[in-house]
Amino acid sequence: MIEIRNVYKSFGSTEVLKDVSLTVPPSRTTVVIGPSGSGKSTLLRCCNCLETADRGEIRINHRTIIADGKPLPDKELNALRAETGMVFQSFNLFPHMTTVENVMRAPVVVRGMAKAEARELAMGLLRKVGLDDKADVYPSTLSGGQKQRAAIARALAMKPKVMLFDEPTSALDPELVGEVLQVMKTLAEEGMTMMVVTHEMGFAREVADTVVVMADGRIVESGSPEQIFTNPTQERTRGFLRALV
Ligand code: ADP
Ligand code: MG
Repeated sequence: MIEIRNVYKSFGSTEVLKDVSLTVPPSRTTVVIGPSGSGKSTLLRCCNCLETADRGEIRINHRTIIADGKPLPDKELNALRAETGMVFQSFNLFPHMTTVENVMRAPVVVRGMAKAEARELAMGLLRKVGLDDKADVYPSTLSGGQKQRAAIARALAMKPKVMLFDEPTSALDPELVGEVLQVMKTLAEEGMTMMVVTHEMGFAREVADTVVVMADGRIVESGSPEQIFTNPTQERTRGFLRALV
C-alpha cells in the first residue's frame, strides 16, 4: 500500500534522506523511530508531497510519485492527498469552525458532498473517536487529546487508504496520550494501513507490525517490534533505545 524505493532528499547541501526504501503492506502498521533530525518527518512529508523527494519512487495505493524534485500536477496531488490522511503533532483545527464543521469540511469542499450527508459522516467519525458530545463546540474548548482525536476524525473523513502520523502525541500532556494512542490502535485493528512516527515505544511494541529505525537520513534497521526492542543488531538502534530510558 505504501512503497518507498531508494528515496533521496536534500535541503540545500544537506542530504536529509539517503537511499530510503520501505514497504507497508495493506492493513499493516509501520512505526518509524529514531533521533531528532534523522529525517522521519521529511520521509512522511514526501509520502503526501508536502515535500518532493529528489530521487527515487514512492507509491501510495498504486499511485506513483516519481521523485524528480518536481511537485505532482494538481489533479494527481489532490487525489493523493485525499487517499493519504495525515495527522501532525500540532492539530491544525480551524478555530472558527466547530468540531463537526472541521470534520465535514474536506468532504464538502473537496468532494462536493452534500452538507447533510457530510454531517452524518462526521458525526459517525466523532462517535468513533469518542467525541460526539463535542460536535458543536469550538476547538479552543477542547483538551489537547480531544483536539488530536478530532484531527484524526477529520483525516478519516476523506476515507483515506493510508494514514500517516507524525508524532501525534508529542505535544500532549502525559495523561492525554493514552486516549489518542487508543484511537490509533483501534484504527490499526480495523485494518487501516498506517505509518506512524512516534516516541511511544509501548505503542510500537503493541501495535506495530514493523519497526523502522532511522538515523542520519538512513534506515539503519527494521524488523518486528520483538526483534528491534529485545534483539537489535545495530549499535545505532541500541544507543537510541538506551537514550530513551
Ligand atoms: P525528524 O523528523 O527525524 O526530527 P526531520 O525530517 O524533521 O527529522 O529533519 C531532518 C533534517 O532536515 C534536519 O536536519 C532538519 O533540520 C532538516 N530540515 C527539515 N525540513 C527542512 C526544511 N524545510 N528546510 C531545511 N532543512 C530542513
Ligand atoms: Mg519530526
